[in-house]
Amino acid sequence: MNEANRHAIAADHVFDGWARHKDAAVVVEGSLIVGVIPRSELPLGLQVRKLPSEIWLAPGFIDLQVNGGGDVLFNNLPTPEAILAIAAAHRKFGTTALLPTFITDTSEKMKAAFASVESLAEREPGILGIHLEGPFLSSEKAGVHDPSLMRQPSSADLELLCGPRKGALLVTLAPERVPRGFIAQLAKHGVRVSLGHSMATYAETLAAMAEGLSGFTHLFNAMRPLASREPGPIAAALESPNAWFGIIVDGFHVNPAMLRLALRGLSRPILVTDAMPPVGGRQSRFALYGAEIQIVEGRCTRSDGTLAGSALHMAAAVRNCVQMLGVPLEVAFRFASRNPAEFIGLGHLLGNLRPGYRADVVALDVGTLEVLATWVAGKESAA
Ligand SMILES: [Zn+2]
Repeated sequence: MNEANRHAIAADHVFDGWARHKDAAVVVEGSLIVGVIPRSELPLGLQVRKLPSEIWLAPGFIDLQVNGGGDVLFNNLPTPEAILAIAAAHRKFGTTALLPTFITDTSEKMKAAFASVESLAEREPGILGIHLEGPFLSSEKAGVHDPSLMRQPSSADLELLCGPRKGALLVTLAPERVPRGFIAQLAKHGVRVSLGHSMATYAETLAAMAEGLSGFTHLFNAMRPLASREPGPIAAALESPNAWFGIIVDGFHVNPAMLRLALRGLSRPILVTDAMPPVGGRQSRFALYGAEIQIVEGRCTRSDGTLAGSALHMAAAVRNCVQMLGVPLEVAFRFASRNPAEFIGLGHLLGNLRPGYRADVVALDVGTLEVLATWVAGKESAA
């Protein structure tokens, strides 16, 4: 061990993913965490970053559904530079790692998006991989996706999705719109498959889960609703301890009472933003498929009123989870970091502030939601 390489971040409250430590410090060596120790036990001479009183350190937020940020929409600009601009915009709100999310579009653009993410996979630790939301979706639940670009998977798609890659791959699809065995093939290649924009029945959802589907994208939105004789995907999701579901806690996408109901199920919640370009940006409008999307009173909507993603950031999602859903802060932190890390198979490296984990940390004032600083792989960036 190289002691000279070590530094520490000290705060009044350190939540390590499991428990809260008062007056503690996260000791970092290179990109990894060595331990969390009482502040009083910090060795003399160690470089210590001290934070103001009442600040919390928590595992950096991991957002698995980010369409845009900093006035950039990934679908409009599927380049490495665009991804970095989006990540920088979200980092101000505590997001230390994310999956740029590419929604239903042409196969050429999808390939470009995929290649851009791959080019960053080994040099940008905050870019964990890609989330492809579409194009294998149900036009009956299109939401803001362009139904004319939805399609059945081709053999070229299968090659792209199951081929060699460096980062994580999450695919949101409608199980009833893909051939039997398709989900199993993706799952066999380490792809995380999530149900979304789907009219799948309860039985169809269970069959997809048997093939390896393990996620539910923005639960409740753009899927068959819960109904007495056809429980659909929502009931199937909430009955399974081996499933994860994303929720957009902005007060607009889902009534908080429905979200509180979902939290009583067996599956594991994940806070996502489904963020659009205005997050961390300056403009209150942007173009999607050539149509104008406006932000009015915090909602991103198309002229016909259809919700088009959100203007939410992760710090606000955590706050809303506490205030609207009555979830304890530590649990909300887990929904924002440990659960998403585990869902995409990175639970051994991310989502906790424990020895051997990557030093991805957020320092925030939980009262004002102000993010003071973040660390990605041990490197600080002031907010
Ligand atoms: Zn969606």
